[in-house]
Amino acid sequence: DTAYLNGRFLPLADAQVPVLDRGFLFGDAVYEVIPVYTGRAYALADHIHRLDRSLRSIGLADPLAPDGWSDLVNDLIARNGGGDMAVYLQVTRGAPSRRDHRPASATGPATVVGFCQTRSPIAESLLEQGIAAVVRDDTRWARCDIKSTALLANVLLAGDAHANDANEAILVRDGRLTEGASSNVFVVSGGTLATPPLEAAILPGITRARVLSLAAANDIPVAQRRVETGELRAADEIWLTSSTREIFPVTRLDGEPVGHGRPGALWTRLRALLQADTHD
Ligand code: PMP
Repeated sequence: DTAYLNGRFLPLADAQVPVLDRGFLFGDAVYEVIPVYTGRAYALADHIHRLDRSLRSIGLADPLAPDGWSDLVNDLIARNGGGDMAVYLQVTRGAPSRRDHRPASATGPATVVGFCQTRSPIAESLLEQGIAAVVRDDTRWARCDIKSTALLANVLLAGDAHANDANEAILVRDGRLTEGASSNVFVVSGGTLATPPLEAAILPGITRARVLSLAAANDIPVAQRRVETGELRAADEIWLTSSTREIFPVTRLDGEPVGHGRPGALWTRLRALLQADTHD
């Protein structure tokens, strides 16, 4: 496993950052996860654009702008043998000589990390069955549009879901669906497809955007609108989207079947469209 750390390629096991790194101390860092299909990064420009947006949101100058990111991603893919995988990138505000909350205290270079993880194709049997999810209060902060590594709430929600034999926590805030703890959420209800509109409580998912444009290109109406908790619970279909889960049907919600309890017809269509898009 070859990783990248601050300008150098080295074995992942040897890639170490100092204890005073602000990513470690404060979660003062942003990240990306980019899926790779047969050696090719999918939607790479969109991921780099979002990373740039995250960096600007926290007032951190892009250390590899403008062309460094795609070279780095492609280099990591090549050095790790290509195939199906995911590339993880992280930028922290660096490692100053003392712990101090104030961002301006970090005067040195940012810390830049990249590594690859294997990504096995999603088993068809799991897709046919769909996954279980639980509904939980959205306990995260108010700026979930920034892809920050400060993920303690998401981590605890993932643990809560797992402890309840579920694969994802679907989050509600002020009586409305926001997103999953590590995914965006689509619902089919009353014969139409809907997903909450982008706002500060939601990560602008790359897969979400792709699904929206694939739907539009194929004359499948989809509304970006508020989804009340009651509508979520009564939905005919619920899907999660993310770079690693692609588009995944939720067939049980808090132990109750979603719709008829099997992946729905519209999911089958969008899944095929997304498959064609990731593999073209
Ligand atoms: N929301 C959250 C909170 C996430 O962690 C993720 C996965 N990174 C997503 C949505 C989906 O985003 P993407 O499609 O870009 O992977």
